Amino acid sequence: MRLTVLGSGSSGNALYIESGATGVLVDAGLSAKETARRMTECGIDPARLSAVVITHEHSDHIKGAHVISKATAAPVFASAATRSECRFPRGGNGIRWGDEISSSEPFQIGSLDFYPFTIPHDGADTFAFTVSSQGVKVGMVTDLGYITQLVSERLRRSDLILIESNHDLDMLKVGPYPWSVKQRIASRLGHLSNDETARWIREDFDGYAVYLVLAHISRRCNHPELARLSALGALESRGSGFFPGASGRLKLAYPDRPTEWFNL
Ligand SMILES: [Zn+2]
Ligand SMILES: [Zn+2]
Repeated sequence: MRLTVLGSGSSGNALYIESGATGVLVDAGLSAKETARRMTECGIDPARLSAVVITHEHSDHIKGAHVISKATAAPVFASAATRSECRFPRGGNGIRWGDEISSSEPFQIGSLDFYPFTIPHDGADTFAFTVSSQGVKVGMVTDLGYITQLVSERLRRSDLILIESNHDLDMLKVGPYPWSVKQRIASRLGHLSNDETARWIREDFDGYAVYLVLAHISRRCNHPELARLSALGALESRGSGFFPGASGRLKLAYPDRPTEWFNL
């Protein structure tokens, strides 16, 4: 299995995962044109996309899905509740829907086995997931207000974990958003702060993953280096043998460019 985060953050989320001949885009929050551009930059042929999976209906996760599906004929997989909340231009006319999925039942796309689970967020039916293929397991958890016991359990024994580190609490407090937006971001149905992600690393991360990738980092209420140092400090607090070479294995996902390829 290999994967790259094509883009991450409130300007658009898209993760590309590949195993054998199966290539899946998880969320399509960049424009179709920008998604195709970044895929091509990574050596991926957009025409060979197997499917698009939508985790929830927020525009930073679905913006390009309609046009990508029409252009590539890739089916879009979403739960019934998410699908009914998606606001596509012209009602999503021409979109090719894949099987209806559920936020709590495993599903398969080609050689990738997805295991979704519910997370606390203000979408209709938001899920995170782990995905497995040929004995390799990856966990992706973004868009959640706090880390539940279920999240911690599902992430154990993952070879790579992509986890949100959305905002710095102090930067959020003094940041440019209206009060209602600040409250939403910081709420139990909002996004993970650097502190909450660090708490999970200190208390529940099993240290098994080869890579830990911080994602959905806010441009306005966080700084990549703050997020990195917060997670790094938490990793180091577990002792030098817990996650050796932490600074090289802790990675960041960016809003404006793809990450490296992670080969697992
Ligand atoms: Zn989001
Ligand atoms: Zn969201």
